[in-house]
Amino acid sequence: MIPLSFSTNNTPNEITRIRGKILADLMAQDAGFARVPVRSISTKTLKRMLQLYDTWFFSSALLKYYSTFDVTMSSRLLKSAGKFITPGRKNAKTCEIRMSSDFLFRLGTGTYKLNGLIAHSPQEAFLIVFEHELCHAIENAIYGSTGHSSRFMFFAHGIFGHTDTVHSLPTRQQEAAASGIKVGSRVSFDFEGKRLVGYVSYVGKTARVMVPDPRGNYHLESNPHQKFLKYQVPLSMLHVY
Ligand SMILES: [Zn+2]
Repeated sequence: MIPLSFSTNNTPNEITRIRGKILADLMAQDAGFARVPVRSISTKTLKRMLQLYDTWFFSSALLKYYSTFDVTMSSRLLKSAGKFITPGRKNAKTCEIRMSSDFLFRLGTGTYKLNGLIAHSPQEAFLIVFEHELCHAIENAIYGSTGHSSRFMFFAHGIFGHTDTVHSLPTRQQEAAASGIKVGSRVSFDFEGKRLVGYVSYVGKTARVMVPDPRGNYHLESNPHQKFLKYQVPLSMLHVY
């Protein structure tokens, strides 16, 4: 257990002011991060973001507790905008916050609703996602576990003014669904000079499309007698058929 040396009773004005200060600091030192859409974010910026948050919101409690605290970007994190990771061992003093570059780099000017707040830019959305993950880090440091319980919300609300744990940032799946492509959709695409027609079985950065073909070695549960070949197709190449 670590004692609560920081405020869990911040006013909305205070929170907005400090978040704005952090945002301005990070954007001033990282041109790639300051652009819309965001083009890049440096390791130095990620490190500084953690340090500034720890100093101004946690009275340095996080970096006092954790001996290793990594903040990383991942292009493979597709289903969530951020993730708090800590080894299963009790009292492990290492952790990682993994942030999704896939989400960050796709965001336009906004606005976005996140954790009950409104973000006015992709950069602010990024910080609010990070704040959520920091609350997992502090809850884990104090109690040895973390989730989305009322205990978590006490921190998320008291420190950052979050009133919810959901966000409206578009996932790849939602973007695809908006264009009519989802799992089960019948789609067509051009491949080596031919137009192929198949069924979408997964949507990520690309879609997996199962195309009926006697040479295939895949079967679909819904269609066990037919053979299929599997294709990975960029979403932009697919047409709803
Ligand atoms: Zn969470």
